Amino acid sequence: MNKIKVVTMAITILLFAGACENGAKKTDKAIAKAINPELMDLTVKPGDNFFKYVNGGWMKANPIPPEYSQYGAFTILYEQNQKQLKQLVAEVSAEKNAKKGSVSQKIRDFYNSGMDTLRIEKLGVKAIQKDIDEINALKDKKAVQQYIAKMHKAGASTLFYFFSTADQRNSSMEIANFYQGGLGLPDVDYYRNNDDHSVKLRNDYKNHIAKMFQLAGDENTTSTKRAETVLKMETTLANNSRTRLELRDPIANYNKFTLTQLNDISTGFDWSLFFNTIGLPEPGDINVGQPDFFSGLSTMMQQYSLDDWKTYLLWNLINGSANYLSDDFVKQDFDFYGKTLSGKQAMKPRWKRVLANTSGALGEALGQLYVEKYFPPESKKRMVTLVENLRKAFAARIEKLDWMNEDTKKKAIEKLNAITVKIGYPDKWRDYSKLDIVADSYLANVRAANAFEFERTLKKIGKPVDKTEWGMTPQTVNAYYNPSNNEIVFPAGILQPPFFNKDADDAVNYGAIGVVIGHEMTHGFDDQGRQYDKDGNLNDWWTEEDAKRFKEKTEVLANEYNNYTVLDSLHVDGQLTMGENIADLGGLNISFDAYKMALDNKIPEPIDGFSYDQRFFLGYAQVWRQNIRDKELMRRLKEDVHSPGEARVNIPPFNLDVFIKAFNITKDDKLFIPVEKRAYIW
Ligand SMILES: [Zn+2]
Repeated sequence: MNKIKVVTMAITILLFAGACENGAKKTDKAIAKAINPELMDLTVKPGDNFFKYVNGGWMKANPIPPEYSQYGAFTILYEQNQKQLKQLVAEVSAEKNAKKGSVSQKIRDFYNSGMDTLRIEKLGVKAIQKDIDEINALKDKKAVQQYIAKMHKAGASTLFYFFSTADQRNSSMEIANFYQGGLGLPDVDYYRNNDDHSVKLRNDYKNHIAKMFQLAGDENTTSTKRAETVLKMETTLANNSRTRLELRDPIANYNKFTLTQLNDISTGFDWSLFFNTIGLPEPGDINVGQPDFFSGLSTMMQQYSLDDWKTYLLWNLINGSANYLSDDFVKQDFDFYGKTLSGKQAMKPRWKRVLANTSGALGEALGQLYVEKYFPPESKKRMVTLVENLRKAFAARIEKLDWMNEDTKKKAIEKLNAITVKIGYPDKWRDYSKLDIVADSYLANVRAANAFEFERTLKKIGKPVDKTEWGMTPQTVNAYYNPSNNEIVFPAGILQPPFFNKDADDAVNYGAIGVVIGHEMTHGFDDQGRQYDKDGNLNDWWTEEDAKRFKEKTEVLANEYNNYTVLDSLHVDGQLTMGENIADLGGLNISFDAYKMALDNKIPEPIDGFSYDQRFFLGYAQVWRQNIRDKELMRRLKEDVHSPGEARVNIPPFNLDVFIKAFNITKDDKLFIPVEKRAYIW
């Protein structure tokens, strides 16, 4: 029910998709289609703006639809998946006599309850009236704290995040975790900064809160006061929080406490009460991600009145439920989170919103149907071959590194060889038998799913890590690296054209999915990932000298991004996006080598006048084609650890000698980087 999802741990996602290799006989038509010159802008010099050169034609032909804040290859695939999922839901819903408690009944009833607008409109705010009354009746601060714990048990992460993950220094065991949270705006800087944009955003947010309170039944003056209280409290939370950049330090986020120690640093909050209420009286070791934040909560409990706390809880209730209430709530919610924050012009049609929530609530149930119908088994085989080729190419590059000593190289290769690969879908499906889905209440279903998910994570605490588990559903169009499992994961949703194209030539596929694979592998060796050993533990396996050289090399890369302007005077933050940029650069280098190995010295004829080497980079660049609204771009520059698509295309390749050669880039081209200034890392 939270609007602002926290990246709970070090899992690094890609926010994009993937490809293929030799094998099937390819038709000329399919190969030609893989790179379409009409979608390029050949009037632009590749060395001046490679992004536009490759994607200019596509960008002109594909304005952003009103319901999107950005539109690109990734979005198109997402759209296609939604249509496939909708079809699956329709098929399941048409089943006669689906038994109560069956997966079919659950998918059907969840979706239909969300589409039952008549009922939802009729209920209006009454859907949450009982909860409002309960909050209003809280008698003291102890009751407030207990209510917060109850919200967590219901799967609504109020005030902070609580969840289970692998212990970062003992990666085979699950441990309880606390993490900073509690904010309605997506970044702490929006509360702290006094530039025009942040001030305006705070003001818009305050108006939004007031309007939502009015919809919930408040008078004008009360709602304005309440909005001020919420903003004030959230500002205190933000001031006690770490910045997004600070959160990228996994060692700083690792602070193992006992329950007694936690109570000691945060005396104003009864953590034993919290654990008793959620049903885990003896949590064992607890990782407190940001101890200052939790000490701060203790002070806040005293600092703010009982009424203030009730207001804060009411806001969390309303804000977290808005999307499942009547249209007036949904529209006001979109007005702020969709329009103001991201520049969207229109809401997605209801079926898409409800479907996304169904897919969230019953992800693997729907995912199982999805892969049965849409994921050909041969895709998995091809991916395995590709991954192993990439692994070989990466190992060969490590052997040749001139900045790393032999001992560290040996450990790096051990870690590379230990990477587990997951492709398509999990071997073992999640069991939804304990999740009760009813026919007549959307909100109740969403809550049941949230509570179910909370129980699932709660039960893991103190037990061995289930390494077969997946952190994404099969239908997700994305990929990730999980450092504590030392694994790379590619859901079925991403393994389709234009990313994984069984009919396209090797050059294009290695440029697309190959780079994706290399990107995920490199995450194990980026500025965060390199701090974990082959078994997934935070454990320094580097010599001091190697670490120093690595840092020098990454600073070169950071500067390239810091100097890149994307919107007026706005630059990419080279430190915030460091891990992703290292992964993009590594991915390109590794996949290019793997592609050369696959060619085995045979050089195919050019297609449409493009050499094979050129097609590799065209394949890479078109994965990132995208139109994006200014507001969304501004938001992402602040919040996203990924650089914008344009920078992902216009920076990394210019560090590769083979790219410079392939496109005859010279010092007269705008994006040219002289040899001595290029970043060479992996
Ligand atoms: Zn990534």
